[in-house]
Amino acid sequence: MREGLSVDEAQELILAASVPLGAETVSTAEAAARVLAESVDSTRRHPPADCSAMDGYAVRHADLTHASADAPVSLPVVYEVAAGGHAARSLEAGEAARIFTGAPLPPGADSVVRQEDTRASDGRVEILVSPEPRLHVRDGGEDFEVGDRLIEAGVVLGSSHLGVLASIGRTIVSVSQRPTVSILSSGDELVEPDGPADAGQIVSSNSYTLAAACRETGAEPSYLGIARDSPEDVERRLRAGLRADVIVTSAGVSVGDHDHVRGALEKVGCKLQFWGVRMKPGYPLAFGTIEPTGTLVFGLPGNPVSAAVTFEQFVRPALRKMMGHTDLYRPVIRARISERMTKQAGRLHFVRVSLERRDGEFIANPTGNQSSGVLTSMTRGDGLAIFAAEAESIDAGEEVAVQILDAGFFDQSERGF
Ligand code: AMP
Ligand code: MG
Repeated sequence: MREGLSVDEAQELILAASVPLGAETVSTAEAAARVLAESVDSTRRHPPADCSAMDGYAVRHADLTHASADAPVSLPVVYEVAAGGHAARSLEAGEAARIFTGAPLPPGADSVVRQEDTRASDGRVEILVSPEPRLHVRDGGEDFEVGDRLIEAGVVLGSSHLGVLASIGRTIVSVSQRPTVSILSSGDELVEPDGPADAGQIVSSNSYTLAAACRETGAEPSYLGIARDSPEDVERRLRAGLRADVIVTSAGVSVGDHDHVRGALEKVGCKLQFWGVRMKPGYPLAFGTIEPTGTLVFGLPGNPVSAAVTFEQFVRPALRKMMGHTDLYRPVIRARISERMTKQAGRLHFVRVSLERRDGEFIANPTGNQSSGVLTSMTRGDGLAIFAAEAESIDAGEEVAVQILDAGFFDQSERGF
């Protein structure tokens, strides 16, 4: 087992072990945000035929080359076509048909004159303009033809994709499976949030943070509870979670006398690939796989910020790869740090920052106490400023990369246009 990897090395090993899951069929109505597992080609033409884009009159433009408001051309209205209806017969020279938006253009007609450019009178219509051919006609197949590639495999389905699938009658669709994740907390000091808490006890917030992070990522968490600091209890609970695609534990993964997670993981068949990543927060991270199932095992640190940050850097990209995503990472922007910061060389630091926009630039403000126990440093932040492993200081005003964690970061209170 390797020890003390860089963030890059750790991520590379983890992603190499993360294999895309198979496909499953789901109802198109439930498929938003899923990754399409098949390319979809059209089996229909849309719209199926030329149709009117306006309420007005279907005409033959050649009948109206000299029509104008001063010299209207009067045509008999020989029938009417409503949306969903059909033309009674072909439109002959010198005829008009009443037509409504979405109705199929009658054979023989080649233009639609808007109602506003006409005067109706007693079975006839006066046309006040001279239309171009195909004026106000929506071409049949203007959206897609039979055989057109509509959506490529690997696309993340949004609401419009579901509409397109519906347009070709696809009410079920093949998407990548969502990984199941077993979440285990460990520690004698931990209690559930609704349990009694005295001064020696800590609420297991990680169970909530990590389950929610899984759901946000699109995975399906299940909770294995809190294991006591005994090898037997950790092992017993881990066994209950072995059927998941991924196991995520928190705490008990360091080298203390009461840290039993690594030993228990090995007992349930997990081959640990590494322990320790040169980052802060989050050094004590273990990673391995269980064969032959290929279940990924992440032993995250116990400190709430360390657990959240290591989930972001390692578990989330792995889950996304398993779900068929090709964009595995959060967006990163450049920002100017608002204050001088120092550290020792050796570990990559993730500094919680809130972002503000000033004069067309982003300013990153560290969110105060950066202790790995201060989870509110995450809730006050928009993202993580990256302070390179070898760096020892950044001056106020220097540019840093900021990984945006808040999915709604670009939402705004003003309309903006
Ligand atoms: P450990 O890795 O067991 O030494 O835990 C490191 C720190 O994280 C300790 O202060 C624990 O109380 C805290 N901690 C461990 N597990 C959790 C959890 N599930 N929720 C919140 N804090 C935790
Ligand atoms: Mg502990």
